[in-house]
Amino acid sequence: MFRKILIANRGEIAVRVIRACKELGVRSVAVYSEADRDALHVQLADEAICVGAPPSTESYLNIPHILMAAQITGAEAIHPGYGYLSERSSFAEACAALGVKFIGPTPDAIAKMGDKSLARAIAHRAGAPVLPGTEHALQSEDEAVAAARAVGFPLLIKAAAGGGGRGIRRVMSEDDLLPALRIAQSEAQAAFGSPEVYLEKYIPEPRHIEVQILADEHGKVLHLFERECSIQNLRHQKMIEEAPAPCLKPETRRALGEAAVKVAQAVGYHNAGTIEFLVDSEENFYFIEMNTRLQVEHPVTEAITGVDIVQWQIRIAAGEPLPYEQDALAVQGHAIEARLTAEIPEQDFTPSTGRLSEWTPPGGPGVRVDSHLYTGYSVPPYYDPLLAKIIVHAPTREQALMRLQRALQETRIAGVQTCREFLRRVVQTDEFRAGAVSTLFVSCLLKGATLPGGAR
Ligand code: ADP
Repeated sequence: MFRKILIANRGEIAVRVIRACKELGVRSVAVYSEADRDALHVQLADEAICVGAPPSTESYLNIPHILMAAQITGAEAIHPGYGYLSERSSFAEACAALGVKFIGPTPDAIAKMGDKSLARAIAHRAGAPVLPGTEHALQSEDEAVAAARAVGFPLLIKAAAGGGGRGIRRVMSEDDLLPALRIAQSEAQAAFGSPEVYLEKYIPEPRHIEVQILADEHGKVLHLFERECSIQNLRHQKMIEEAPAPCLKPETRRALGEAAVKVAQAVGYHNAGTIEFLVDSEENFYFIEMNTRLQVEHPVTEAITGVDIVQWQIRIAAGEPLPYEQDALAVQGHAIEARLTAEIPEQDFTPSTGRLSEWTPPGGPGVRVDSHLYTGYSVPPYYDPLLAKIIVHAPTREQALMRLQRALQETRIAGVQTCREFLRRVVQTDEFRAGAVSTLFVSCLLKGATLPGGAR
């Protein structure tokens, strides 16, 4: 096992990784920007080192500074958390070149799956269903027109290097295709540093269901069942996730798990990863992408399996074999996570900042709160608006829903505006309670339109 790990991240996920380090008896090093001097991860880590100015590009994304921090502190491994450097193959390579273990998959697996059009091709070859679309980035406008005709409208233009719900553009008809393509390419260049885009058939009211993977460095690949993440904001960012997915036929659940394992095996994957699928009203499922890192929503899987995913990321990177067998893993109860963010849903999810005059998180049976907040903490304007993840676990979905209602009601936060009331509203709808929502649910709820029910 490592003696010391540097956590190249901030916020709740840095706190989560530090907790895992402490429980494994490993020393932790926090990095922080000048805006995060008073942050909880800095207070909880055994050591902390400043890596630059407040903007992420100058601190949390500053590879030379992060690597220098690892060398100065003598960290043997780096946990990247999610976001920031977690899916940069060049960072994983730079770590290896310095003899620092990157806690994650190989640079090769990150690079392959980071190109979403190449990932589609790999998944397809591995036997996972993919939506009709292009299996490589578009090379010309003529090719785009021909491919779009074959796929049919409506379709999506997606940035090959996209992520975080960005870089997706819907095209309703052929007349709109080329103008949309040009905009999508220039937006992709600006946002992701690559103009490459591909086409994918649009599914009208899909559910987003993803499978958690854990793979060790000795060839064992396991799946830890699925999560439903259909409650998404207008920018395709997840707001509420649950495990297992409600109302899914056992054979669909089994097939999803098997497909995910095959995709992970196809890229020689190790460590934690997530294979994302869209599921239509007939429960046909299609691979959309793989995230080669820890996900925000990992705690719901931890709750229903009893597996500490973050500890296992560290153990796997240290060379330990996974002691679990697929057939022995079982789902225990139901878990739901609600993301409390400093955003105002009714005002187009406008972010809010400020000093917390009160933070009293919920507690009691079956409630876990992953957060970096404390009363008196000032939410800085530079970073992700996630404040806290409220995770509930109960024997049944019905009980988990009641528990989530209770936990959201109990949460007291003042000094910054949040989405708490909107989360409560979602949880109280008949559609959500019935487990029958598609990814369009939140936008319909905000518009007051007829709620899509996933047509099941
Ligand atoms: P990102 O890499 O930005 O997370 P994804 O490809 O994973 O993007 O898609 C994010 C979300 O966008 C999905 O969860 C879904 O809501 C929507 N989406 C993506 N592809 C499709 C599609 N083919 N049809 C309908 N909705 C889609």
